[in-house]
Amino acid sequence: MRNALLSLLALALYSCNSVTYDVVIQGGRVMDPETGLDAVRNVGIQGSEIAVITEDAISGKQTLDAGGKVVAPGFIDLHQHGDSPEVYRAKIHDGVTSALELELGVEDVAAWYAAREGKTALNFGATISHTDSRRLAMGGKLSKSRLSGDWAVEPMTAEQIEAMKQRLADGLEQGAVGIGMLIAYTPGTTAEEIDAIFSVAKAHNAAAYVHMRTNDTDINNLEEVLTPARRYGTQLHIVHLNSSGRDRAPEFLARIRAAQAEGIDITTESYPYNRGSTYIDSHAFDNWRQMSDEEIAGHIWVETGENLTRETFAKYKPTGGLIISPASYSEESVRNLVADPIVMVASDGMWLTNGKAHPRTWGTYARVLGRYVREQKALSLMDALKKMTVLPADRVSQRIPAMKKKGRVQVGADADLVIFDPETIIDQATYQDPVQDSTGIDHVVVNGVITLKDGQFQDGATGGKPIRANAE
Ligand SMILES: [Zn+2]
Repeated sequence: MRNALLSLLALALYSCNSVTYDVVIQGGRVMDPETGLDAVRNVGIQGSEIAVITEDAISGKQTLDAGGKVVAPGFIDLHQHGDSPEVYRAKIHDGVTSALELELGVEDVAAWYAAREGKTALNFGATISHTDSRRLAMGGKLSKSRLSGDWAVEPMTAEQIEAMKQRLADGLEQGAVGIGMLIAYTPGTTAEEIDAIFSVAKAHNAAAYVHMRTNDTDINNLEEVLTPARRYGTQLHIVHLNSSGRDRAPEFLARIRAAQAEGIDITTESYPYNRGSTYIDSHAFDNWRQMSDEEIAGHIWVETGENLTRETFAKYKPTGGLIISPASYSEESVRNLVADPIVMVASDGMWLTNGKAHPRTWGTYARVLGRYVREQKALSLMDALKKMTVLPADRVSQRIPAMKKKGRVQVGADADLVIFDPETIIDQATYQDPVQDSTGIDHVVVNGVITLKDGQFQDGATGGKPIRANAE
């Protein structure tokens, strides 16, 4: 009995130890989608990692009050184009702690990472761009959007394919997350070229992140990337199934599930809107004159927020710039994709034009949690968080094992955390007036650095680190 009492005393002394954590997140509802933990806990951060998750009182040099709020892993956005400090700040307000440019990717991997290292509010990463590598291998001219030119339409010669493969391999050797492919914008791309790209991805244990060719009749645009993925065993991620699949998304999803059952490592994502955004100078609009006046008027010129006319379309087409497309699929299609357990959330957040862009740049994550979880009850809060955290982390972790420490509220995980009110979180950005931060997100921590506090961005917070494969 006496021994038992002594050990109880020792235990009590041990648990009231005098450790002072760097940051304590006090009294929040901790939700960890991987383990299913959903309980009120205190979280102690030491340096850049979570050191303790406990019911006991703990103290820290800095304390964030999370009473009545959810404490979740910071959101990991696999599809973010705009990569300026201004955009990163908007992403922090939406709960994002890691933003990756995986669809288009970048031309010079080493330079892109070097420009952000030590200066960035959130974690950052990029693929090597097939689009840019193709243009460079063909000696093509760079356009404002990087997406148009004769080089995009013409097929490659065998020598040009070899030169492109070398560029892709160089990018991967510099640590690129994978290979980014917008086949929809390079209509000259052939099956042989796709095959070559997938062989390079496989040789570097990297995924191909693909914006499929546009196809309004069947799913051959998916088959053309599934075929080489199967042949080489390459990891494959299909971006924005909402805008690529539209109201036929269920057909694509069924095919993706069948491919997964067959053992192909294929994943997908969507953003929670039914209007897209793209460049007016892209080849998708080569036949724009065939559109009716009404169809043309459904497009918004991002720079000013005005709806386009036949005259203004003709004026802006040659110079180029961003537009928002009309609604091209139903709200129900969006909701079904947001709710589907295998579909991750990713924003396709854009570059800014005159400070503006598609509202998904500001509001994607708060919109899923406010509109689809709370208001429409299309999915549970835990399931939504899973699609924003552990699923995207695991998409990338085969190539970058350090991603196993992200997307989780667990001891030893990176301290990337978002604290929000599930009763009030909502997006504010609209198509006409997009530059509005999401509300209901109180605090954001990036690698232990308090980056958003009481809804205020902390100027000078640069907790972001590169998400990058080891140099080969
Ligand atoms: Zn895209």
